[in-house]
Amino acid sequence: MVDLQGQYARIKDQVSAAMQEVIDTTTFINGPEVQAFQSELEDYLGVKHVIPCANGTDALQVAMMGLGLKPGDEVITADFTFAATVEVIALLGLTPVLVDVDPVTFNIDVAAIERAITSKTKAIVPVHLFGLAAPMDQIMALANEHNLYVIEDNAQGIGAHCADASGKKHKTGTIGHVASTSFFPSKNLGCYGDGGAIFTNDDDLAHTLRGIVNHGMYERYHHDVVGVNSRLDSLQAAVLRAKLPHLDHYNRARREAAAQYTKALSGLAQVVTPTGVCATGMGVCAQCDCHVFHQYTLRLIGVDRDGLVAHLNGLGIPCGVYYPIPLHAQKAYQDERYNEADFGVTNQLVKEVISLPMHTELASDQIAFIASAIKDFINANKSTL
Ligand SMILES: *Cc1c(COP(=O)(O)O)cnc(C)c1O
Repeated sequence: MVDLQGQYARIKDQVSAAMQEVIDTTTFINGPEVQAFQSELEDYLGVKHVIPCANGTDALQVAMMGLGLKPGDEVITADFTFAATVEVIALLGLTPVLVDVDPVTFNIDVAAIERAITSKTKAIVPVHLFGLAAPMDQIMALANEHNLYVIEDNAQGIGAHCADASGKKHKTGTIGHVASTSFFPSKNLGCYGDGGAIFTNDDDLAHTLRGIVNHGMYERYHHDVVGVNSRLDSLQAAVLRAKLPHLDHYNRARREAAAQYTKALSGLAQVVTPTGVCATGMGVCAQCDCHVFHQYTLRLIGVDRDGLVAHLNGLGIPCGVYYPIPLHAQKAYQDERYNEADFGVTNQLVKEVISLPMHTELASDQIAFIASAIKDFINANKSTL
């Protein structure tokens, strides 16, 4: 699904030298690399504050702690996403409120958010799922109207853009009150272990967050609030500093691969490609910059998905199902307040989606081979369905 070795081979000298430097200076924790990465990422994103931390899940948790959310507060997020998002809401004793997604973008459905808002609602967590910017303009308008916080889960969307009402583009993760990201190795900007960061333009919130990630300390050995220990280590920061200058190029490579998949698969009635006009209405996503294709995800209509997975795997082609079970149906997150009828899209998507190999090193002939393997399977099995 990803080719981290191929990517590493191209930047080996830079990464090795950067890691060796950290080892030579033994500044493993809070070394100068962490500070430098933080300010380089602030510049890249166009955001005032980046607070590095240990992983993307911690980033979400700390963001919610920093906003002062309290048990009983309701937090609305998407039913169709990775569990980390709902997990931290529940861990903090907040009440997760899962809502359905849009069938074209797979992102949180703004009308469903609106229906779920109650007097207890305190925050909305949109996820830029698979690398496509959620409709932030509409979400921010709704949040402002109801006085809610917006926490962007940007773990899959780093480098993507979203236009505001005037058409001005902003990077995802810089639009809400606070945002989280992950540097898990397979993410669009991945390190060589675990890593994450929180972003915000709010000076006071940034100060609060910096204390929370460091045991609630604002002055050494003075613990003003209950915090956590969540650090990005210097070795990971060194890797990320070496990779950040390549991020736009990496994302372009992903978009080009996506465009090639879409072209090769167009014309198959059983396959819905993810080229839909983006949430901001700016154009075709394979070409525009609102989608950084963390995943390239198809919807299969009337296709035996298990059969297709077996066919592809038999040819040595990996593929994935992200995500096979809606969060509202997971044992840990079931809630009697939910009504199945409210999750029509997610319930359908979990049966139809399949994600193809997507990374920065995909070659044209690999994409062509994968697309023709899909076509062969569908054409051979048409008559039986
Ligand atoms: C990967 C991911 C996370 C969690 O990141 P970790 O660094 O693995 O903790 C959170 N949300 C989404 C949407 C993700 O894809």
